Amino acid sequence: MTADPRPAAQTPGVLEDVRERTRNLVRVLRLVWDASRNWTIAWAALLLIQGTLPAAAAYLTKLVVDGVAKIVGVGFSWEHLSPVIVPASLMVGIMLLREILGGAINYVRLAQSELVQDHAKMLIHEKSGSVDLEYFETPEYHDEMARASQQAQTRSTSVLQGVGALVQNTVTLLAIAGLLVTYSLWLPLALLLSTFPALLIAVEHQRRQHTWWKETTEKRRWIDYYDLVLTIRQFAAELRIFELNAHFQKAYRTLREELRKGQLDLLRRQSTAQLTASLFGFVFTGGVMGWMLWRLMNGSASLGDVALFYTAFSQGQGLMRTLLSSVGQLYGDALFLRHLFNFLAVEPRMQETLEAPVEPPQRLARGLEVRGVEFRYPGSQQLALKGLDLDVPAGRIVAIVGPNGAGKSTLLKLLCRFYDPERGSVRMDGIDLRSMRSDQLWRRITVLFQDFVNYAGTVAESITMGDLFSTHSRERIEKAARAGGALDVVQRLPDGFETIIGKQFTGGLDLSSGQFQRVALARTFYREAPIVILDEPTSYMDSWAEAEWIDNFCRAMRGRTAVIVTHRFTTAMRADLIYVLNEGRVAEQGTHAELLAQGGLYARSWRLQSREGHGESDGDTDPSSPSLVAV
Ligand code: ADP
Repeated sequence: MTADPRPAAQTPGVLEDVRERTRNLVRVLRLVWDASRNWTIAWAALLLIQGTLPAAAAYLTKLVVDGVAKIVGVGFSWEHLSPVIVPASLMVGIMLLREILGGAINYVRLAQSELVQDHAKMLIHEKSGSVDLEYFETPEYHDEMARASQQAQTRSTSVLQGVGALVQNTVTLLAIAGLLVTYSLWLPLALLLSTFPALLIAVEHQRRQHTWWKETTEKRRWIDYYDLVLTIRQFAAELRIFELNAHFQKAYRTLREELRKGQLDLLRRQSTAQLTASLFGFVFTGGVMGWMLWRLMNGSASLGDVALFYTAFSQGQGLMRTLLSSVGQLYGDALFLRHLFNFLAVEPRMQETLEAPVEPPQRLARGLEVRGVEFRYPGSQQLALKGLDLDVPAGRIVAIVGPNGAGKSTLLKLLCRFYDPERGSVRMDGIDLRSMRSDQLWRRITVLFQDFVNYAGTVAESITMGDLFSTHSRERIEKAARAGGALDVVQRLPDGFETIIGKQFTGGLDLSSGQFQRVALARTFYREAPIVILDEPTSYMDSWAEAEWIDNFCRAMRGRTAVIVTHRFTTAMRADLIYVLNEGRVAEQGTHAELLAQGGLYARSWRLQSREGHGESDGDTDPSSPSLVAV
């Protein structure tokens, strides 16, 4: 399967458009139902009850007015007063009930929307944990992700409110239409007509707002980025030294101003249109009320009838407008929520062999084989690997060296199967990685990435994250820390393994980059996987620390297969086999001594570094941990 991970551009026809919106609304309702079943039932019940109250109130108004009209001039007596008192008390009861129901509905709605938000976030988190790594490298991912997560929260709640308003107002409106129909059949129709322009305006506004919002997504992401730069610690020092604060503030303000103007512009256009729709409604109401007064003067309607009619018609009109704007709102929600569902629909591009996948071996017998691998990054014209061939024998330490851009990190990514090669294959004990399930493969590998992660939390937690699914013990944690060269660091911390890392949290400490790297190494070693992959594991270490670390590492490696990308001769020379990569191919291979004897790139770089480190020195001594930069 090679589905494009990015959502396809859609140009649907009107019918397909409406169908898609409806589908999205149904999916949101299902999402709401899945997230908060019981609250949804309670919410629907409360809305139904609340929906019938206005019609009941209107009818009671008629009874009260007619009752009052009868006793005017008749004189005070309980007999005449009772037909007024009963409906009047009922009206008070209804008013109270309305208040109580309003409070209850607010409570239920809050509980429900919190659950829905968490549920939608959970779906987004699950999806971003399963999409291909390459997807993260596209601006489309960041746009779609931003759209999905911004809108998932607000719009799911908005759909709830929209549907709520729709249900409640429809019930009320039906009840009121029932009252109006007793005067004339065409009155409910007039109600509908008088408010129809409001619907068109609401829909048009939603459409315009969506287009604007979609087009400005990347700008909003820039705004978020500027905000981050201005407020988080990682940027604080450079911002001061280079006096960048004002520069970023200006960039932030400029974009905010542009967006603010756009938003206000949209609102202004909508308000003008709404005013026109309201005028249309007034004219209609005027006409209909004139007709009713004419009937009153004719004697074909009572004063109570006029009161009922006025209450019902004006309430109905208000309701109808709210109802139609709910429809417009729902239309808009469906437009916006498309992005959530687009994001949730992204399928991994990497072919997963789910039918009869081959289980990766527990222990390597032969090792890893890279055969004729060609690979280019998605969207890139140039091949990053151009027919790479190499072997990582089981139980051996293999170093990969070479200049920047040679393809070293790319090779590691292919060994982890974050990408599949365009040509050739990567195999584990002769089995193509493509015939394994990625999650099973990943459990056989432990990796220190060049841009390793510094997790906040205790040091012990940070280390055990290397293998959360096993049973932890202090002994195991210490062993991993020793192998990673982190034990000394930890012992000097105030609370040892329980020290909290992360200054942004109460009691948290900060470590130096080198210390962070050692903790990350400890995490890598905590997982007892047969394959160990390290990308520049000693980049932050000085030469003394590096020599000691390598001794530790070689001891810890017994029986495991290791691939190390390194710029350091000190590390490379201890490997069983060294590959020199250049421009996506293997340029040289052999042991340190063999490569020196070959007199190629490796040897040249060694000699250059030796001269710089020790004057004119040739031979196999460690030239004070020089790096392979000149290779
Ligand atoms: P090395 O690790 O040897 O320094 P890399 O494997 O990182 O080199 O890069 C090999 C080539 O692939 C380089 O030309 C680099 O520009 C390119 N490259 C690396 N990462 C990406 C990426 N995510 N997208 C596109 N090209 C990339």
